Amino acid sequence: MNDERILKLQKALPTLSASNVEFAGSLILQHNDRGKLSDKQWFWVEKLAADAGKPQPEPKSVEGNFKPLWDMLTAASASLKYPKIRMTTEGGSPIRLSLAGPRSKYRGDVMVSDGGPFGSNVWYGRINPEGAWFIPFKSRCGHHEFEAVANALREMVESPADVAAAYGQRYGSCCFCGKELTTKESVSAGYGPICAGKWGLPWGEINTELYKPKPKIDSPPPPKPKLEPEVSEYSVQTKIEAIPLEESKSESDPIPEVV
Ligand SMILES: [Zn+2]
Repeated sequence: MNDERILKLQKALPTLSASNVEFAGSLILQHNDRGKLSDKQWFWVEKLAADAGKPQPEPKSVEGNFKPLWDMLTAASASLKYPKIRMTTEGGSPIRLSLAGPRSKYRGDVMVSDGGPFGSNVWYGRINPEGAWFIPFKSRCGHHEFEAVANALREMVESPADVAAAYGQRYGSCCFCGKELTTKESVSAGYGPICAGKWGLPWGEINTELYKPKPKIDSPPPPKPKLEPEVSEYSVQTKIEAIPLEESKSESDPIPEVV
């Protein structure tokens, strides 16, 4: 005694987006289990079925060419399983760039988020191989915050070595591997020689006299990496603090991707 509305939703399943399929599936399951749904759930059963097959609006993109960021992460992925760049806005809000994993719908795109654990992260969109940055239709962040992220990414496009240096000097850790910067040279550059090699940044030609042992004005920005998926569709990383090497091996730990 299947409800007509449920049958309609079942038929619509193949045309739904990945997240809606999951949601629709749970509604159908609950209906089949209990033989009933709440009014609110019926609303969604009808809405999901009605919206299925409707053309999706064109995603909004941010003005600018962000291809250098895609290039950087993609080049680094030759030697790192989960290449990441840690950044902050001018105001200190965390930004994390990483690559979408092989099981993601956006495989190979650069994912832009605040690096928080899945469920409580802020998602700023994705950068495709052509360098276009598409922002989510719905976001937890406001326009103002978004502009701050956009400004930080534009700066990174302009002068990655300077941004990396500023991050390193501000937080005392490398924006690529997250390790604490200990040598004079690393503190000056904002990253160590290994990351310089992996990320194609200058090393050795840095004037170490630039090194100023000024007090760190902030602790590294939250959220700390945890053993949780960072953003729904891609990689997971381990605690980098636990590894005493200059360059974190955790980047290449064989952790299963979470879809
Ligand atoms: Zn590093």
